[in-house]
Amino acid sequence: MDFILLGPPGAGKGTQAKLMIDKWQIPQVSTGDILRAAVREGTPLGVEAKGFMDRGELVPDRVVIGIIAERLKEDDAAEGFILDGFPRTIPQAEALQGILQDLGRNIDHVISIDVDDEELVTRLTGRRMCKGCGESFHVVFNPSAKEGVCDRCKGELYQRDDDKEETIRQRLRVYGEQTRPLIAYYEKQGKVRRINGTGSIEEIFSRIADAAGN
Ligand code: ADP
Ligand code: ADP
Ligand code: ZN
Repeated sequence: MDFILLGPPGAGKGTQAKLMIDKWQIPQVSTGDILRAAVREGTPLGVEAKGFMDRGELVPDRVVIGIIAERLKEDDAAEGFILDGFPRTIPQAEALQGILQDLGRNIDHVISIDVDDEELVTRLTGRRMCKGCGESFHVVFNPSAKEGVCDRCKGELYQRDDDKEETIRQRLRVYGEQTRPLIAYYEKQGKVRRINGTGSIEEIFSRIADAAGN
């Protein structure tokens, strides 16, 4: 079960990945989460990535490809994984193919989640993220039971620096230019299932399960 979750910032990739982990017992591999942890810890990777992230630009391909090549070799990914936020460019997709070939495996499903831009802006400006486990909440659409505290791990919720309107618009532009072409790239391989990403979180999850044939 090797999945890619494709979709613009705010489409619900992280939210759906958490439900997929529970259903299929495979790990979520989020380059955004890995990069944010590196920024928090002040590692060389974090220092290199921070400026790009703050500006709403993509971190260089070489950097994220290196992260993924290491991560997918780990034992917990042996039965499958959910890639969330990777690949984001054609060169990343091509590198992924090489990495998987070396491991003797292949992407099974590319789930592309569609949500229109104004809804994305509303979702992202109200997003609150957990410092502990990376779970996403929303002040209106998906509030935590206790304000500021994660339901899943009791971690502290915060608003990401890049979830301000100006940076969100930039990230949506970058998505359109560099990442949306991946839909056609994977359509050529017959792997894409497009999902309407509007509706309740549970409804969208059942669309994903249907698309994955489960
Ligand atoms: P969102 O969930 O809002 O789409 P992410 O957490 O996936 O955002 O990514 C946050 C930022 O991390 C991106 O704006 C980008 O700077 C960087 N990033 C994450 N994944 C990648 C990637 N695959 N390639 C390049 N940059 C990435
Ligand atoms: P992504 O990982 O694709 O950037 P997230 O999963 O972080 O997106 O979700 C973005 C925001 O939208 C979060 O605040 C989340 O709580 C909220 N959200 C997720 N799914 C839905 C939904 N179906 N309807 C409304 N809001 C949603
Ligand atoms: Zn948490």
